[in-house]
Amino acid sequence: MAIRIKRAEKYGFCSGVRVADIKVRRFAQGGGKAAILGQVVHNERVVADLERLGVRTVQRMEEATEPVIVFSAHGVPPSFHERARKLGLQILDTTCKFVYDIHKEAARALAAGMHLVFIGEPHHREVIGYTHDLDPTCYHVIHSLEQAQAVDWSQYPALKILYQTTLNAEDFEDVVRYIEAQNPHTQRADTICYATKENQDAARKLAQDPEVDLILVIGGKNSANTRHLFEICQRLKPTYLIQGAENLRPEWFTNVTCVGITAGASTPDYVVDEVEAAIGQLVEAKAS
Ligand code: SF4
Repeated sequence: MAIRIKRAEKYGFCSGVRVADIKVRRFAQGGGKAAILGQVVHNERVVADLERLGVRTVQRMEEATEPVIVFSAHGVPPSFHERARKLGLQILDTTCKFVYDIHKEAARALAAGMHLVFIGEPHHREVIGYTHDLDPTCYHVIHSLEQAQAVDWSQYPALKILYQTTLNAEDFEDVVRYIEAQNPHTQRADTICYATKENQDAARKLAQDPEVDLILVIGGKNSANTRHLFEICQRLKPTYLIQGAENLRPEWFTNVTCVGITAGASTPDYVVDEVEAAIGQLVEAKAS
């Protein structure tokens, strides 16, 4: 029996990463040689693919032997532009427009004498981009209610809350409410990116679809946003987390007529296509 596949309405790369990926590929396909600072996305296949095209990943700008350095969608500290120039590197800047909006909003808030509160992970590249050049006394990076409770927020004249874009801001509502309750001069930045939320909402909708018997979440084992999609779907339907077509098991599809598919933010479309094609082959093999 044929199996129907339903993809979530939103899945995989966000618009910022999608545009960055296209820009880098076009550059490489035109014969350009570049080093990319940090991975474009946390996906080994994408990294290997770009390397084949002549864009290798480096962890520090000083490692680049190519003429061009690529800044990825999640951005870099502003001082890195000057550093690249001093190293004689041209810049291919693929920083997402929304990330630049947050840099600008943070600079405006600092100029207005506000203390910055980044809701995010301190070691995430995007957050490092916001904080690396700042005096450590003028900001906090907060990722849990416990961390928020450990700070005396009333000591600051005013606070500006800014969100790491790869998080779903709604998941941190309790944290932000707590901070707001401690300091009445707290403002939330209006720079929230909804890409992560949209993928999560679409995954939930897919799992609630009565026609869908089983969900496959495609993404990296270490990808936090993939795991979050898995948790959302698992509450509603039998769900498997896979890295690619190679992880599919024929026994999962017994008595299944419709499979729902979603993918983490670091999963390129071609991996989703491969999984879909492999399901078709598994079903054909079972039938023959
Ligand atoms: S701001 Fe949003 S669209 Fe841009 S890179 Fe971050 S998650 Fe993607």
